[in-house]
Amino acid sequence: MKFGTYVFEPKKAEGFDFHLFRVKPEVGRRLPPVSDMYSNVAIFGDNVTARNHPDWISQSPLGPAWRTNDNYNVRWDILCHTQPDHRAEQLDYIEDVARHSPGVWLNSIHFADHGHCTCPRCKELWKKSGLSWLEWRRKEVTDYMREVSERVRDRAKKKFVIGVLPDPVASYERFGISFDDLAPLTDEFLVVMFSKNYATPWYWEMLTRGFKKLFKDVKLNIALYVFGPGDNPSEVPAPSELVTLSVRAGRAGADGILYLTDKASQIWDFQKAVVDRVELRQKLKTYGCQEVLDFFAGWEKVVG
Ligand SMILES: [Zn+2]
Repeated sequence: MKFGTYVFEPKKAEGFDFHLFRVKPEVGRRLPPVSDMYSNVAIFGDNVTARNHPDWISQSPLGPAWRTNDNYNVRWDILCHTQPDHRAEQLDYIEDVARHSPGVWLNSIHFADHGHCTCPRCKELWKKSGLSWLEWRRKEVTDYMREVSERVRDRAKKKFVIGVLPDPVASYERFGISFDDLAPLTDEFLVVMFSKNYATPWYWEMLTRGFKKLFKDVKLNIALYVFGPGDNPSEVPAPSELVTLSVRAGRAGADGILYLTDKASQIWDFQKAVVDRVELRQKLKTYGCQEVLDFFAGWEKVVG
C-alpha cells in the first residue's frame, strides 16, 4: 500500500509516500503546479468558469447544475460536459500541468448527475449519434477521457489517475461513467470518500470492497477527509474514526489511501493525534491489516 497527502497548498508533510496538490479544485481557482507533488485538477466542477460563462452551466429537467440546486447533490457549479471551449482549454491546461509536475489526478470528469445535460447542443449531439441517451453520455465521457489520457500519458509522459465519486452501482446512469471504458485509459483510480464523520466504518469498507471488485487489475486509491478549508475543528472526523477506517479499507483491498487537509500543518496535527491513539492502534492489531498500523507507527518519529 501507498499513503499520500491531499492538500490545498504546495507543501509536503513528512512521513508519506507521495503528495497530491489541488492546483485546480472545484471552486475553480488555479495555483501553479510544483515539480515534486502530483497535481489534482477538477474539470467540469468549476465555480470560476461558471461565474464567467453562466450559459455554460449544465442543464436538466430538474434545473441547471448550480450548487444551489437542491434536486442534486452538487457541491459546486458544474459545466455542460460538451462545452467545446471549456473542453479544449482544459485539455491544454491539463497537459501543461502534467509537464510541470509528476502527473495529474483528475476529479469531476463526468456529467453533473442523472438527467444532465439537456442543453440544445447536447440534445443535438445525442440525436446525431444515433445512440441511446445513456450510451451517448457514456461515449462523451469516455472519448474525452481518452483525449486527456493521451495528453498526459503519451505526450507529457506523466502518471495519469482518473478520480470518480463513491457510487459503484449507478455511476453509468448518473454520470455517464463506464469503469470498464476508463480502466485502460488510466494508470490508477481514485475514489473520493469524503465525509464529515466516519462513525460507521462498515459502509466505507463495503464501498472499498465494491470498487476493488469493479477495478480488477487497476489500483484503487481512496481519499479520506481529515480537515477541509474553513472547517470548524468540532465538525471534522475524529482521528480515531480515520485510524479505524484506514485499517478496514486496507484489509478490504485499498492499494492507496490519501488524507485530505487544507494545510500541510493539519496533516501534522492528524499524525500527532494518530500517534497518541496507542490503545486503539493496539486493539486494531487483530483486524487484519498490519501494514496500515506499521505505517502509522512510523509517524512516531515524524511528530517526535
Ligand atoms: Zn450540454
